[in-house]
Amino acid sequence: MQISSFGDARQLDESDPLREFRDCFDLPEGVLYFDGNSLGAVPREVAPRLTDLIVREWGRGLVRSWNGEWFDAATRVGDKIAQLIGAQSGEVIVADSTTINVCKLVYAALAARPGRSTVLSEPGNFPTDLYAVQGVIRSLGGRHALQLVEIGELTDSINDDTALVLLTHIHYKTAAIRDMRAITSKAHEHGALVLWDLSHSAGAVEVDLNGAGADLAIGCGYKYLNGGPGAPAFLFVAHRHQTSLDAVLAGWMGHAAPFEFSDEYVPAQSIRRFTSGTPPILAIAALEVGVDIHLRAGIRPLAAKSRALSECFMGVVGPFCAEHGLSISSPRASEERGSHVAITGPDGLRIMRALIERGVIGDFRAPDTLRFGFAPIYTRYQDVWLAAEIFREVLETGAWRAERHFQRGRVT
Ligand SMILES: *Cc1c(COP(=O)(O)O)cnc(C)c1O
Repeated sequence: MQISSFGDARQLDESDPLREFRDCFDLPEGVLYFDGNSLGAVPREVAPRLTDLIVREWGRGLVRSWNGEWFDAATRVGDKIAQLIGAQSGEVIVADSTTINVCKLVYAALAARPGRSTVLSEPGNFPTDLYAVQGVIRSLGGRHALQLVEIGELTDSINDDTALVLLTHIHYKTAAIRDMRAITSKAHEHGALVLWDLSHSAGAVEVDLNGAGADLAIGCGYKYLNGGPGAPAFLFVAHRHQTSLDAVLAGWMGHAAPFEFSDEYVPAQSIRRFTSGTPPILAIAALEVGVDIHLRAGIRPLAAKSRALSECFMGVVGPFCAEHGLSISSPRASEERGSHVAITGPDGLRIMRALIERGVIGDFRAPDTLRFGFAPIYTRYQDVWLAAEIFREVLETGAWRAERHFQRGRVT
């Protein structure tokens, strides 16, 4: 899809089947937001929902509210997320952070493949995933090794010593989509398990965990799902593995009968086994609002719009980026690309700072990557056009060379 004027963009907005969903979000005036892949915007319904929860359920209901909708919140919202990622009911639970969920499932996978010593991933995978694996390996006494192999050779590197393959489905820098089906099936041929990180996938692209025969997955609540800063994450364990995998970070909420208060750990025979402690009810309630909006919109239209938005953006910015020494490092083919576009160049950080100063909010990932995320639920084609025009101006005027853009903030 191409746009060559503001009018073109406005027309696409008018015929956009998802156009009404933007109004579900509270976006500030004067900001063009392209960082929903890092922190999703706040749904308008979150504040009234949390106020009601605090005043009525917590305030009036007190501990009695655990008997109401609280106790099942983690699995109820898990079941909803399941619908966005091609999983069945009972295969997903909301819990902890993405990082902690990586740890839990890496432990479980290594315990399930005794005698195998390799965890396979790719160099440049999201750091927390790699650090979590390294930490688990240290805690197990160094009997395992994390092997990082370039994606082109990764499938061929899977062998009978591979316990686990850990990959991010959509690469956080380039937005390249990894072939879930092919990698999973190669791993299975060798008896290995695969853990998919869906942080940049859930809510933005179609994911078919069950169709790909996936074993394990984790993902973030605060990116495309709009759960709020530090929102709880989710984890997926295929039904066939739930009763055989050991949840090492065991806790009472993963017990078969938490309120029997027995001394002996008897794991739940369900996805609940993979949770440890009391679920964060306020945070899950905020996440549920974002997830519900995505369910109403439908993942297929969302994914289609995300591809169209990023295609429009690349079409407009590609030529002038090339003239200014920047190059698009995301795959050009829509079916190989997630919902953001990465542009690399030596002065990326300063260019992004100049854009943010002008209200175009993307982000920067060291050492040289500008990222523009196209959260399909609230981004408009006209925003894409306007941002591209500001981007052009920043490059053509050299506004990014200003002294103040040399200082770096804590995050971008
Ligand atoms: C954002 C992101 C995370 C975040 O992990 P947290 O525990 O929420 O900090 C993990 N993995 C990937 C691939 C991500 O993009």
